[in-house]
Formats: sequence, structure tokens, C-alpha cells
Amino acid sequence: MVEGVEFDEDAETLVARVRPRARARGRCGVCRRRCPGYDRGEGRRRWRALDLGTFRAFVEAEAPRVSCREHGVVVAHVPWARHDAGHTLAFDATAAWLATRTSKSTLEQLLRIAWRTVGAIVARVVADGVAARDPLAGLRRIGIDEISYKKGHRYITIVVDHDSGRLVWAAPGRDRKTLAKFFTALGPDRCAAITHVSADAAQWIADEVAAHCPNAVRCADPFHVVAWATDALDQVRRETWNAARKGGMSVHARDLKGARYALWKNPEDLTDRQQTKLAWVAKVNHRLYRAYLLKEQLRQVFALKGEAGKALLDRWLAWARRCRIPAFVDLAARIGKHRDPIDASLEHRLSNGLVESTNTKVRLLTRMAFGFKSPDAMIALAMLNLGGYCPPLPGRQAG
Ligand SMILES: [Zn+2]
Repeated sequence: MVEGVEFDEDAETLVARVRPRARARGRCGVCRRRCPGYDRGEGRRRWRALDLGTFRAFVEAEAPRVSCREHGVVVAHVPWARHDAGHTLAFDATAAWLATRTSKSTLEQLLRIAWRTVGAIVARVVADGVAARDPLAGLRRIGIDEISYKKGHRYITIVVDHDSGRLVWAAPGRDRKTLAKFFTALGPDRCAAITHVSADAAQWIADEVAAHCPNAVRCADPFHVVAWATDALDQVRRETWNAARKGGMSVHARDLKGARYALWKNPEDLTDRQQTKLAWVAKVNHRLYRAYLLKEQLRQVFALKGEAGKALLDRWLAWARRCRIPAFVDLAARIGKHRDPIDASLEHRLSNGLVESTNTKVRLLTRMAFGFKSPDAMIALAMLNLGGYCPPLPGRQAG
């Protein structure tokens, strides 16, 4: 109920004095149960609301305290804001919506708030979303991945749902203890319902999955296996480049350096210039070009999937073992060692794109989250973007 509105033209502020309707009054701010009043608290207080034009707007009201049987003496619930929040629900939703769509500086200027406040808003919006819709409900096929940030000094472990395509869980760290927290949150019954787990070849993931998910088939993430091949190719390119440089072939060395992206990108994404570069490599450096073809054929294995993929992988292994390029001979040995989870991944046709794109997006978000107070706010930003927890703009339809 609005009791009055005041404009202060000098300060460019608008203050709406309000009072909750009777049935919203006298409720615990945490659980919203009706409880006896305690005192007036700190008297009247203000919540930042969405601007009215260039005027900063505030909602002002009494903030009495109530005595909850479960939560003790707490500030009473108000219908326009979250408990302990200094912004209205509409302001929170707008800030969260913008955080998924625009840059840090745009958001700060548009809403006139500090970035760390955005972190706190995102954290409470996601906490509410998670309370309303449990991200761990109904999981069957999951992917586990680790992502490094702060130049490889920090890690987070993430879990994605292959069926919904959503990020469902993330936590700082990359070890068995971190992952154990996920399985503890899931509980034994839901762990038993997990049928497939995709991951890179990390032993700690394999061990922890084996300890908790008795019915899960372990699959190797194609994204990581193809990344091994890209690394091997890069090693061959560097060796070739060093050899050319030491051999006094400086022009050849320079041209090879420029070939990096042509070799690295998927052929369908090459620009005309990169295509020409690749053709040049094929002509002048047969060993490097063979390494390129080995990488590409391995990628083809995962594009084909199923029995055809497995058959191509057999032929690939035979080729790689006798290719006399050490990086690829080693890669063949490594792939041979992980053949079971790789075959499982080909048989069960788990998507490659999901883990890869989530990994890339989370890495970008860790950079955007720089300046938030805690890793929790960073993880909330990831859940907001990739977990399906972004609210619609206030007053608009969801979507
Ligand atoms: Zn309560």
C-alpha cells in the first residue's frame, strides 16, 4: 500500500512510502510464517527500487522485527524485497537479467550500482531459484569437468546435465573431496539413478564416480580426447618450427608460425587465407601435414560416433602407432589405455558440444566475475547464465 510519494528535485530522488497489506505483515523474514511482533527494529528503512527516469527511486517503510520460533528475532518479511536485501525484487531481477546479457561497465552505469553488489544480487536470485527448482532432480546422464581460471591458479569443478543441457552444480576446487560434495548433495538414491558419467581421463574423477554411482557407465568426453590430439599437433608444429629456425630457414620458420590457426581450427571454419596456408603446409611439410590429418581423423571418429566411429578409431590407432611421429605414437598409447570409456562415449552418443561450450562459457564468466567478493558469487553467475536461473525482466513474459 502506497502512503505517499516524495520527489526531491535537488537530490534527484523519489521516495515511495509504503506499508505491507495486513496479511503480509507480522511474518518471519526467513520462513514467512506468521509470528508475534518483537520490536520496531531500526525504524524506517529504504530499499533501492528501479529508477524513474533519471530519478533514483526508493521504497521506504517500517522494518519491525518479529520473533520466529525457528529463526529467533528477525526483521519481518516485506513483499517487495528479499530478506536482508537492500534492493527491491524488481531491481534484483533487472540486475540479474542484465548480468547475463551485458558487460560489467554497462550494467554498473545503467543501474548505478557497484559490481560487487551485482555479485550479491546474483547470488540471492540464484539461491531463490535453486530453492524453487532443485537442479539435481531427475539427473540421469551427467558430465563432469574441471575449469582453470586466474591463469591456472584456481579451479572449479562443474557438473552438467546431458539431457537438459544445463549446468547443475559447481564448486571451487578439483579433487575427490570437491566432487564428493556433489555426490553427497545428490544422495545415494539419486546417485544410483545416474546411468552415464562423462569426464576427461582424470583418475580422481573416475575413482569418485566409481565410489558413488554403482550403475553408471563412465564415458570419455570427446572434447578432451580431441584436445589431446590438438596438443600433440601443436607439439609437432613447434618441433618443426624449431628445426627450421635452427637450420637457418628463417622464412620457412616464420611461415610455419603463421600456420598455427590454420592447423588448429576445424577445416569447415577456415578462412580463405588459412585454407591457402594449410595447402602450403601440405606441399612443403609432409610430416606436419600428416600430424594435421591424424588430428582431423580423430575428430571424425567422434563426429561419426557409434559402430562406424569405433571402426574408424581402430584404423586411426593402427595408423597413429606406426606414424613415426612421437607425439602421436604417445597419443595412440594414451587413447589405447582409455579405450573403454572412449568406446562407451561413442556407443552412448553423448554430445561433445555441451561440455566444450559450458567449459568455454564458464571460463569467460570467471573473468566477468572478477571483483565479486567470493567464489560463490562467481558460481552463482555461472548458474544464472547456464543453469536456467535467469529471471525474466519484471513485467515481461518469461523467455
Ligand atoms: Zn522463521
